[in-house]
Amino acid sequence: MTLAELLDQVQLLKSSGLSAIDAASTEESLSEERTRLVGRKAGALTELMKALPSLPVEERRPAGAAINDLKALIDAALDARGAALTQHAVRSTQQDLSLPGRRTWRGAKHPTTLVMEEIEGIFRELGFTVALGPEAETDWYNFGALNFPSDHPAMDMHDTLYLGDGVLLRTHTSPVQVRTLQRYAPPIRVLVPGNVYRRDFFDPSHAPMFAQVEGLAVDEGISFVDLKATLTHFTKQLLGSARTRFRPSYFPFTEPSAEMDVECQLCKGSGCPACKGTGWSEILGAGMVHPGVLDAAGVDSEKYTGWAFGMGPGRIAMQRYGIPDIRLLYDSDVRFLEQFAT
Ligand SMILES: [Zn+2]
Repeated sequence: MTLAELLDQVQLLKSSGLSAIDAASTEESLSEERTRLVGRKAGALTELMKALPSLPVEERRPAGAAINDLKALIDAALDARGAALTQHAVRSTQQDLSLPGRRTWRGAKHPTTLVMEEIEGIFRELGFTVALGPEAETDWYNFGALNFPSDHPAMDMHDTLYLGDGVLLRTHTSPVQVRTLQRYAPPIRVLVPGNVYRRDFFDPSHAPMFAQVEGLAVDEGISFVDLKATLTHFTKQLLGSARTRFRPSYFPFTEPSAEMDVECQLCKGSGCPACKGTGWSEILGAGMVHPGVLDAAGVDSEKYTGWAFGMGPGRIAMQRYGIPDIRLLYDSDVRFLEQFAT
C-alpha cells in the first residue's frame, strides 16, 4: 500500500465511520460500531496501523499522524453519541411528552359568599356594622328572649338539633339581636351573617343547614316607613329593576310582620319549580321589633322602636345566578363552583 492509498482509506473511513456513528440509534448498535472502527483486534483503524511497516520509513510519520487524528475524531464522536443516547433513554423513562398539560387550579368564592359580601356592602353604606354570635345557642336566646311561647305553633318551623342542657343549634341568627341589644345602647344598626340549622328536608328549595343574614335597627322614632324604605332601597341595589312585594306575615319576635317577595328571576314571573309555580320568590322576612324582645334584652320599649329582617343568601344566589336546585350549593362540585370565579 502506498501513502496516497492509505490517506484515501483514512478519508473514506472518516466519512463512512462518522455517519455510521450518527445513525446508531441504540447503545447496542453504537457498541458494534465501536468494535468495527476502533476494535483492538480487527477494527478498521487497527488494520490501517498494521499497514504502516510496509511504507517507506519517511512516509510512516505522516501516515501514522493521519491515522491517529482519525482515531481521536472517531473516539470523540463515539463518546458524544453514547452520551446523547443515555440522556434520551433517561428522559424517555421519566417523561411522557405526549401527555396533555396540567391546568392550574383556580379557587373561587362560593356563590352564597359572593351574595353575602354584596349584601354586607350595601348595608355598610347605610351605616350598618357586622355582628356575630355562637351557632350553639341557649334555648333562651334562640326562643325565650325572642317571644316564642314554648307551645306556639311557630316552634314547629324551628325544630332543630338539641345538644342538651338547654343548648341547641340555633334556628336563626336572631339570637344575635338580643346579644347586641344587651351589649350596646341604641342607636343600633347591625348586620348578622351566619349559619343556622333546622329540621328541613333536603329538597330543591330547602336545606337543613343554611346561611342567613339578619339586620337590626333600633333607635328613637323608628317606624315601618324606615323598614320599607330601607329594604326597597336594598332590593333595588341587589336586584336592579326586579318587581318586589310585601305580604303580611307572622313572626313571634316582630309586630307587625311582613314577608318580601321578588319576581322569580328564573321564570320572570311565569311560574317554575323553584318558585313553586307562583312567579314570586320569597326573599326576606321582616317586621317591627316586638316590644317584648326589647324588654327581654333590657331596652326601654316605651322609648325605643326598631325593625329587623332576615334573609337567606343561598336563595338569593339561586335567583341571581339562575341555580334551579339549592342542593347544588352544598355539593362542593368544582365544575359547578368554578363557574363563579371572576
Ligand atoms: Zn320561577
